[in-house]
Amino acid sequence: MNRRTFIKTLCAVAAATTLCGSQTIACASGAVRTVDDEDLKDYLHSMANFDLPHMGDIILINTQLALLKSSLKRLRRIQRTVGFGNFCILSFDEALLYARQNSSIGSFTKKELSFLDYTFSFDASNYGFYGERTISNITSRVSKKDLVKIQGSGNFLYRGQPHETYKSIKKLLGKKVYLTSGVRGTMKQFILFLSKAAANNGNLSLASRSLAPPGYSFHGVGDFDVGEAGLGVANFSIKFARTETCMQLREQGYLKLRYPRENMLGVRFEPWHIKVKDIKL
Ligand SMILES: [Zn+2]
Repeated sequence: MNRRTFIKTLCAVAAATTLCGSQTIACASGAVRTVDDEDLKDYLHSMANFDLPHMGDIILINTQLALLKSSLKRLRRIQRTVGFGNFCILSFDEALLYARQNSSIGSFTKKELSFLDYTFSFDASNYGFYGERTISNITSRVSKKDLVKIQGSGNFLYRGQPHETYKSIKKLLGKKVYLTSGVRGTMKQFILFLSKAAANNGNLSLASRSLAPPGYSFHGVGDFDVGEAGLGVANFSIKFARTETCMQLREQGYLKLRYPRENMLGVRFEPWHIKVKDIKL
């Protein structure tokens, strides 16, 4: 992370207060805070304990948290209706249509829609997430003709380099390795990010240390996750780094990590996340 970005984050929290009641690292208006060893120590400490709340985290106030929860419940009802696989690639407009047409889901309220819209357009560096924005429009859609359904996984991959990369990993490791998460459209990223925030009292910064905020995930443009058969949810934990599968992937050069250990992007170490090269944003 460069100094300018880090300072921006420390100072930008004031801009977040319309969305969030915040426990912030206060930054007096106009003050420039330099990045010193203490800042770096704080950063590394919070990343080593990514799943705990930290001073400076952006946390939703009660009314906003209520909106997050009602939007999330509606998204979950849509997911149940369309199925997990289809939900992975569902667009914003399609989600709205499903909600409107199914009385068991119910239309999103105006407040829920503006909450989703605001959350999507929010600058994630305010959370402490420094990854690039990958999708600029909330209504952008994944074209089904560009996708391949991966049998048995309930997930899709983009044709071309992502699919070819996965096929060569399968050739190398066979049944031991499987696709745990492929293409994720905007609504899928919303449900993951909001679920994590809801489970942590509306702490959006904490959520962003494990999950890219909607609009910032490379799963929307080609990256994917793999796991070792039999490891279950532990595939998304540090345990994966100790598996034979992970070791072989590293040896064969597949682990060109998007989020390496002690990265400065504000994202936990993710050895299971396969970075697909040559993604043009
Ligand atoms: Zn991933």
